[in-house]
Amino acid sequence: MTLELARLTKAYGEFTFGPVELTVEDEVLAVLGPSGSGKTTLLSLVAGIAEPDSGSILLDERELVGLPLEDRRVGMVFQEGALFPHMTARENVEYAAASDERVAELASVLELDGVLDRRPATLSGGERQRVALARTLAADPDVLLLDEPLSSLDAPIRKRLRDELHGLFTSLDIPVLYVTHDQRTATALGDRIAIVRDGDVEQVGSPSAVLDRPASRFVARFTGTENLFEGTVTERNGDGVWVAVGDVEFRTAVSGVPESIIQGSNVTVCIHPSRVELEPADTSVDGGAGQANAVTGTVAHWLNEGNEYRIDVDIEGGALTLTANVRRPTFERLAVEVGSEVSALVPPESVHLIPEPGSR
Ligand code: ADP
Ligand code: MG
Repeated sequence: MTLELARLTKAYGEFTFGPVELTVEDEVLAVLGPSGSGKTTLLSLVAGIAEPDSGSILLDERELVGLPLEDRRVGMVFQEGALFPHMTARENVEYAAASDERVAELASVLELDGVLDRRPATLSGGERQRVALARTLAADPDVLLLDEPLSSLDAPIRKRLRDELHGLFTSLDIPVLYVTHDQRTATALGDRIAIVRDGDVEQVGSPSAVLDRPASRFVARFTGTENLFEGTVTERNGDGVWVAVGDVEFRTAVSGVPESIIQGSNVTVCIHPSRVELEPADTSVDGGAGQANAVTGTVAHWLNEGNEYRIDVDIEGGALTLTANVRRPTFERLAVEVGSEVSALVPPESVHLIPEPGSR
């Protein structure tokens, strides 16, 4: 199936959605954006809960705009799965399923066997969401839409369900749009991510493309890139692009740098914290041609974030603070303390330039 949104618009008072162009194949597209950016509006238009002011929604060439909700073959799961409270979990799923075999199959895939004869009120949040998903899938939709289905769950259950869902969604072979405001959920579940801002799709790409090559400062900030520095291009040639951030110079590989960025351009230098490697300060580091950017600095602050440590390093006496995310072995090897000296290495291909000036 191919879902194709073309010049799709919808206005609600001051808020205007679109015009949006978006093509979703048999894949999971994570729709990521802040509250009020238009994520639910996007799903509502596809589902037929709202009608667009203009534009088209094609599903394998079939126009959905104007079709009543029940003729669209679009399944939707909401933040709080709306189950029939007086029916058991089994009856909720049976309601939409073509056969008992289908109910059994979905119950097995979604691990519902133990809870099928219970009513929704007696189920945990995670179980209710799995039943809601089973009921939606039982109708064999051509498109699956999910609107923050895990956001009301506790973190451990959310994480476990998230891991299970990726395999399930992929096996469906239909377009899946998964709305979330959580960057980790988007990167864990999405084959691609669409970043929504103020009713527009600002960037669509693979998780690594969006994380490593954000198209705008907004995308960079929203996907957790803390290293955004205002800089000026000092040189551009076949070997790379050099940018001065105060007294510190970063080199980036020339491929992928927009042609509009030339000597003298003011840009934002963007470095994802997971791309910054730290070494003990006494390691000899060479910033020469072909090598990583190397700078030395002082640990200003560190934070244990569970799976990773976040370390802020003041470079050039604090003119610039570079944040690195490192794993525990690195943290322990470096014996990080506030005030310790470290070398930071950033490979040229991890220095991304955004043609917008500004810092933070
Ligand atoms: P998100 O899901 O990203 O939080 P929404 O799509 O729900 O954002 O909302 C985007 C904007 O559209 C908000 O300003 C919201 O108030 C407005 N909006 C959404 N649905 C309606 C509606 N049915 N009537 C009026 N305004 C709406
Ligand atoms: Mg919403």
